[in-house]
Amino acid sequence: MFILAYGSIFINIPSTSTMNFEITAKDVMGRIGKLKTPHGIVETPTIMPVINPNIELIPAGDMEKFGTQILITNAYVIYRNPNLRENALEKGIHGLLDVEIPIMTDSGSYQLMIYGDVEIENEEIVKFQAEVGSDIIVPLDIPTPPDSDYDTALKDLMITVEREREAKKFKGNSLLALPIQGSTHIDLRRKSAEEAVKVGGDLYAIGGLVPLMDTYRFQDVIKIILEVKSILPSNAVVHLFGAGHPMIFSLAVALGCDLFDSAAYALYARDDRYLTPNGTKKLEELHYFPCSCPVCMRYTPEELKKMEKDERARILAEHNLYVSFEEIRRIKQAIKENTLFELVESRIRSHPNLLGAWRLIRDYRDLLDEYDPSIKSSFFYTGVESCYRPTVKRHQERVLNVEIEKDYVTISSDEGELADFYLKAPFGVVPAEMMESYPVGHSEIPESLEEEAYRIAVEGLLKFLLSNPSKRFLLRVDSRWIEHLNNLPNNVVVECLDRRGDLDLQGLDT
Ligand SMILES: [Zn+2]
Repeated sequence: MFILAYGSIFINIPSTSTMNFEITAKDVMGRIGKLKTPHGIVETPTIMPVINPNIELIPAGDMEKFGTQILITNAYVIYRNPNLRENALEKGIHGLLDVEIPIMTDSGSYQLMIYGDVEIENEEIVKFQAEVGSDIIVPLDIPTPPDSDYDTALKDLMITVEREREAKKFKGNSLLALPIQGSTHIDLRRKSAEEAVKVGGDLYAIGGLVPLMDTYRFQDVIKIILEVKSILPSNAVVHLFGAGHPMIFSLAVALGCDLFDSAAYALYARDDRYLTPNGTKKLEELHYFPCSCPVCMRYTPEELKKMEKDERARILAEHNLYVSFEEIRRIKQAIKENTLFELVESRIRSHPNLLGAWRLIRDYRDLLDEYDPSIKSSFFYTGVESCYRPTVKRHQERVLNVEIEKDYVTISSDEGELADFYLKAPFGVVPAEMMESYPVGHSEIPESLEEEAYRIAVEGLLKFLLSNPSKRFLLRVDSRWIEHLNNLPNNVVVECLDRRGDLDLQGLDT
């Protein structure tokens, strides 16, 4: 922690090592960044394929051809095997895996979660990771499973925090990733993030989510990410532990996660499962490969089904990696062109639980507002979720500050008519002079819209009318709007454009 002085005001800046991370482009809460590690710069967001040094389905040295910039391996597995341990101490972790690219090591927490016990001390495994020259090291945190009772989660958390403090002493030249735990207790997740920020890590790793993702509890996943993000400094590097399925990469990046690890590419392959950005397919159900990666262009599903199991697993693992990195490149392109909302809104349609979970962003509007760029080149409406983008509410707030000179003001839902303001779903009221500029002027919105889009527009309209109580408004709308126009204030007359001459007067004292 260091302190900046502005006059007599002191501002505490949490001690994140921002020197290691440079953000070069942003969209939604996501970003493209450069993470500096001892073995080179990694462009985020990216995936770290998991290398199991005992069984390499795809050798570490072949990983770069898929787009891999950084690997992750398990220091605990290496430490426990006398041969591997000796080798790693002698040649370093890079020598052991025979690669030059950065390597992150995990500490054995995963084994702790699966087997309930590990035969190692925190100090021992942290020192080992630093000694073998790991680029990013992790203390032996305790991953408390979802739905654990509060006291257990709190107790585990306090041990994790203690170990994080200890790890900082022994990290050497490595970057230190501080795990964030707390089970499904939101206040404990926040506390975990607060404590980790006090310790000061180079990265923050949100852990203990695998059981939630395996059971499609995406609402819990999203809530935990957003709550943690609301505590971490905006430029802190965030690793989402255990999220290796391309289906959720865009969503997680949009919520501000920078790093993923994938054991999924190998685990799914061994089980004859084929990853796509829209979900998982079983090989036995595939008649065609919906992909153009080198593997899918070379083999047919039939040919693969006839292969030996190990060979088939290796080939499926290759496809799984190609498709995962393809999705990462697609996400980075979307960040560059500020269309990440559009990409996420298409991906969440892969699973009803994703679709439902994404709607949680309505509750985190201030947080999204803090990150999401205010000017973009376009607004493509892809469904009702588009109404929840910060742009819509921002527009509604901006209109409240527009000064109106006239006493009698016309608002029309027909853009072909001359009016002072227009009514457009989901934005609400739009001054005539703002019809060409972002967001309204750069929006593509279908003719027929969901009721929700009208409801949100009318919310904006009501605030606008109420904030100008001294003006009188003539509101000319087509019949689609009528049923939404309830409880209008007294300063407005409504005329239905579909029933010309048949004035539908509301409220106004004439
Ligand atoms: Zn493929």
